[in-house]
Amino acid sequence: MRKYVIMGVQGSGKGTQGALLANDLDLVHISVGDIFRWHVKNHTKLGAQVRRLVAAGELVGDDLVADVVKDRLQLHDWNYGFVIDGFPRNRPQAEFFLESYDLDGVIHLDLPDDEVRRRVLARRLCSRCGMDYNLIAHRPEVEGRCDVCGGDLVTREDDSPDALARRLLDYHSKTDPVLELFRRKEYVMTIDARADKTTVQRAIRTRFNLPPYKG
Ligand SMILES: [Zn+2]
Repeated sequence: MRKYVIMGVQGSGKGTQGALLANDLDLVHISVGDIFRWHVKNHTKLGAQVRRLVAAGELVGDDLVADVVKDRLQLHDWNYGFVIDGFPRNRPQAEFFLESYDLDGVIHLDLPDDEVRRRVLARRLCSRCGMDYNLIAHRPEVEGRCDVCGGDLVTREDDSPDALARRLLDYHSKTDPVLELFRRKEYVMTIDARADKTTVQRAIRTRFNLPPYKG
């Protein structure tokens, strides 16, 4: 059984890397963001709660995140282990996690803030069909137009430089103490996340002595 936490700032590719690792090693990929999106999409009670918070411009609280993760892990459908992203978000959660689960390691995807800004501020969204674009990695064929439906490409409201600066501050103030706690237990492997996704995945495998990535 293998149990990992994957940590990294927005835009560091932690969702992608977590999924690549999980698919290949039969681990369950638990993405806190995906769980919340699922609830919103399926109009559950929790989804309504999240929608209200977002509409009021607030973040989903740490306690709510912790409850969702506990419920998810209690399903015990992770026979070969799990890789979790989006949790823990603060020190008490990290302590709970260390007490409750015998972690094999913490994958820390390291991306400098200026690179985060470059990646996140390049994101665009089709205002008509919702398709995602990125002016660095996935450019539309015609500037400002969706390849699929021809709709206008726009920037998400929360991808403004100000909103991103706030999220970066929030991320560092919460995550740095978590990393420090994990580092004391010698769990943390810091991986340079500036490389392409295959290189990053290979680096993770090497650092944790896992079977090589063939993709
Ligand atoms: Zn479109």
